[in-house]
Amino acid sequence: MSTKDRPRKPELLAPAGSLEKCRIAFLYGADAVYVGGKEYNLRSYAGNLDSGELAEACYLAHHLDKKLYVTVNAFARELDLETLPRYLQYLQEIRTDAIIVSDPAVLLLAKRWAPEAPLHLSTQANTTNSLSVQFWQNQGICRINLARELTFEEVQEIQKVAAIELEVFVHGAMCIAYSGRCLLSAFMNGRSANRGLCTQPCRWSYSLVEEKRPGEYFPIREDSRGSYIFNSKDLCLLEHLGKLMAIGVHAFKIEGRMKGALYLASVIRTYRQAIDRYWEAPEIFEVDRKWREDLAWVSHRPYTRGLLFSDSAACQGVETATSYVQTHTLAGIVRPAPQSRWETSLSPHNDGEDWTYIEVRSRLLPGMKLHFLGNDGATTIHALGNFQDLSGNPLPVANPNTWIRVHLTFRTFPNEVIRTRR
Ligand code: SF4
Repeated sequence: MSTKDRPRKPELLAPAGSLEKCRIAFLYGADAVYVGGKEYNLRSYAGNLDSGELAEACYLAHHLDKKLYVTVNAFARELDLETLPRYLQYLQEIRTDAIIVSDPAVLLLAKRWAPEAPLHLSTQANTTNSLSVQFWQNQGICRINLARELTFEEVQEIQKVAAIELEVFVHGAMCIAYSGRCLLSAFMNGRSANRGLCTQPCRWSYSLVEEKRPGEYFPIREDSRGSYIFNSKDLCLLEHLGKLMAIGVHAFKIEGRMKGALYLASVIRTYRQAIDRYWEAPEIFEVDRKWREDLAWVSHRPYTRGLLFSDSAACQGVETATSYVQTHTLAGIVRPAPQSRWETSLSPHNDGEDWTYIEVRSRLLPGMKLHFLGNDGATTIHALGNFQDLSGNPLPVANPNTWIRVHLTFRTFPNEVIRTRR
């Protein structure tokens, strides 16, 4: 295939639930990041950015020549209709690169109050065929995240005729409901999936109790053909990126606005390298052992190819155990030196002689093996030596939510993520 005939290189689109996570996502190779805003419902939720942070995230993205999309994909209620216009105007003012919608009401308001902002359609709109794509295109949508329930052949057919950009999820948690059309989280703890706030209670462990036998719990289980209905595996399409790139899918999306720094760094750098490597030499592309390791060492459920490449029954994507696989944890994050302005920079943090500052996230002891996750895919393993607090006092132990400084003989970057074995 000549270069001219090649489909475009897909955009790697990553989630971020905070400004810090935006920095991490960009550092590790995301072309674009999607975030949620706190103001939409005039309520504050963890895992979303306030107005100032949204503006800062946009500035950061553009400074790095990347993009920031803001999800406004809740299904609006009457009260929301009053607050949405101002919010949408604000998103346009800060030059959000796209607003992600799913409710036609939000779409109408966005067209009126943020007419210059491109509009993307969320997976929650459940777009499953080319005619629906055409419909949404006529409504002013310029990109659609296709329903996760489609097969590869269906995506291929839609891609052939679509005149707008198509996006697919390649990694992350999946719903046992039709992408977010589910009330479980809203019932269990008041955080509605339809407002982008799902806490994934479908993965918790459930039992059945008969009314007259309190305290007698019957586990919900079935056999291999049965209904582990509350318990989806995690999607991982690493091995199939080439097929999706070959048909010209515009963007690969990673799920997980609530996920932590270690997940973001590991997953984003893996997909970044996989996309780049396939792009450079598709004929010799193969999945690197280190990529599998990175994905295996973040907290996750057993992986599945989901419905896109499922070659047997749909229950292939359902897991019988309820626990997450977690062998490693976030040890800390490299921070810029105090009073430094390096925080938004992607330039190296030290030259091998200066102090490296670490914000500690797990209890650290001398001798522990730390893995510094480089944004080029390399991992530097370092046995922690002596370290100090910021005043220069030697410490026997570093506790979470404190800062330490250490001398390292290799380069680090602000926002570089450090993992360690649990
Ligand atoms: S509870 Fe589970 S099925 Fe329901 S929206 Fe959340 S992830 Fe999807």
